[in-house]
Amino acid sequence: YAAKETRAGLRAYDETADVNTPQRLARIADLRAAIDRRDLMVAFQPKVDPATGAVVGAEALARWHHPADGMVPPDEFIPLAEHSGLIRPLTLHMLEVALRSRAAWARTGHDLHVAVNLSPNGLLDVTLPEVVERLLAQTGSAPASLTLEITESSIMADPSGSLATLERLHALGVKLSIDDFGTGYSSLGRLRRLPIHEVKIDRSFVQRLTHDHRDRAVVRSAVQLGHALGLEVVAEGVEDAGALELLAREGCDLVQGYFVSRPLAPDAFTEWLTGQPVHERRPA
Ligand code: C2E
Ligand code: MG
Ligand code: MG
Ligand code: MG
Repeated sequence: YAAKETRAGLRAYDETADVNTPQRLARIADLRAAIDRRDLMVAFQPKVDPATGAVVGAEALARWHHPADGMVPPDEFIPLAEHSGLIRPLTLHMLEVALRSRAAWARTGHDLHVAVNLSPNGLLDVTLPEVVERLLAQTGSAPASLTLEITESSIMADPSGSLATLERLHALGVKLSIDDFGTGYSSLGRLRRLPIHEVKIDRSFVQRLTHDHRDRAVVRSAVQLGHALGLEVVAEGVEDAGALELLAREGCDLVQGYFVSRPLAPDAFTEWLTGQPVHERRPA
């Protein structure tokens, strides 16, 4: 695949990686078959209020168990799906499983929101708002119970095209979140004009929070900026009690990370949820 993380966390284009080798074509064929057979699994990772510990939502993350090669990481197969026209059916599958699961949790008294990731090409699909509207209706979900996570770089890939899609999703009442916040290039002016309701501070700033005062300064500024713009602020990559405590003190609204829970298979997530107190959702 062509996207490689550099040290700065930016994606640099590597053209040699985009060549369709026989291995790559075979991988694409396998991925297509997995999506068709609905073999692609969804893991759920809880989003928790650091002040109270209450579970407020969950992020849906794609998981692919390749029949011969075992688990293939999303950082490998998502770019593959992006470049082979498979991102649309993949995103539909994720949305469908996420919304059906959310409805099942709600029936047990856990009224959570669910978040699904959109990749750059997913955001450029002009039929996306209609598809989302149909799936919300089919699963009896309130639009505000769905969050779509998009990265700054996806928006930058086609600012006017993606803004049109974002506006239509926003008009439906779906919530929009800027994922991996702090690793892209979006200007503060642009951020202010986007119809978003949440920013997710990238885990690269969160993981060493207790050891690095510069990371702490970045996180504090991100929380303040988000709040000044009227946004909810989520921190991803919370791996220890120290980070959780600092984020609670900085006023971060929600946290997500291995310290709270790893992403869990649907059954394991439902079981985990059973042990959690039922939480009334805060008014928007
Ligand atoms: P992301 O949306 O930023 O998701 C968060 C990633 O951080 C997930 O990796 C999650 O497992 C991992 N993570 C969560 N807590 C911790 C922690 O405490 N420490 C560490 N080190 N990592 C943590 P995952 O599942 O491997 O996904 C990687 C990326 O692949 C996602 O980043 C997202 O950009 C993409 N992705 C995953 N599923 C989908 C999907 O269904 N559609 C699209 N378009 N992209 C997806
Ligand atoms: Mg995400
Ligand atoms: Mg993220
Ligand atoms: Mg991230």
